Amino acid sequence: MRVNFTPIHRRDTGITGTIAVLQDVTEQEQLESSRREFVANVSHELRTPLTTIKSYTEALGDGALEDTQLASRFVNVIQNETGRMIRLVTDLLHLSRLDSKEAALRKQKVDIVEMLEDVEDRFSFQMQQKDITAVIDVKEGISHAMLDRDGIDQVLDNLISNALKYTPDGGKITMEAALTGQGMLSLSVSDTGIGIPKKDLERIFERFYRVDKARTRNMGGTGLGLSIAREIVRAHGGHITLHSELEQGTKVTFTLPLVVEGGKSA
Ligand code: ADP
Repeated sequence: MRVNFTPIHRRDTGITGTIAVLQDVTEQEQLESSRREFVANVSHELRTPLTTIKSYTEALGDGALEDTQLASRFVNVIQNETGRMIRLVTDLLHLSRLDSKEAALRKQKVDIVEMLEDVEDRFSFQMQQKDITAVIDVKEGISHAMLDRDGIDQVLDNLISNALKYTPDGGKITMEAALTGQGMLSLSVSDTGIGIPKKDLERIFERFYRVDKARTRNMGGTGLGLSIAREIVRAHGGHITLHSELEQGTKVTFTLPLVVEGGKSA
């Protein structure tokens, strides 16, 4: 809280007083500090791969190029690190478009079962590789919803790729569609993975927040997947929540308005 006092003195009436202006600066300060934290995070996230690329290109220049086996390993590392930077910058651009509301939603009537089956198809190779069982469970009475298909595909892709990353081989990933008591569509992705410690749950949707920074960075994550998912769901007028039990699994649920053109329910 900032307080400014201005003394008043009127010569004719002799009334004197003070004007006190109370300004709530806490919100402003919080915004400023989260902006600073964000810039520091972005710089750090970009610096890490850049430093690796620099040292590997130096090593190649210093003679590693002569050893074809070593050189091909180094080139592989460089490719992975550039890939990570591209993912990060793509995610950042996406977030900034969502923040500035530039990314207008292009809502269309979408078949829910078809949408979930398409997600499963996109990930079927990775699921097979990890021997993960995929289950789609669409409750009765659900057929279509008005939503931005690209946006919701992105949400589902982020959630499924997390579920895949944090579920050991032989696990199970379930996508469920149900109706909430308020007549909203509820979509969820649950896994039988490693789970998230209780202490981290509160901050898990924050940009760049990760449970185990080093490990999750090695898995190729940018730390922005859940924040992007939350922005897209909010833009639709829905909510996203996450429940998790350590060593048991994680379930992320988001709701979306279920209206087709003309305001009728699907
Ligand atoms: P990342 O790109 O690192 O996966 P996210 O924003 O998608 O970033 O997720 C943030 C963090 O939340 C992850 O780094 C991970 O620690 C944790 N997390 C997200 N989803 C899961 C999950 N299904 N199981 C376990 N941990 C998860």
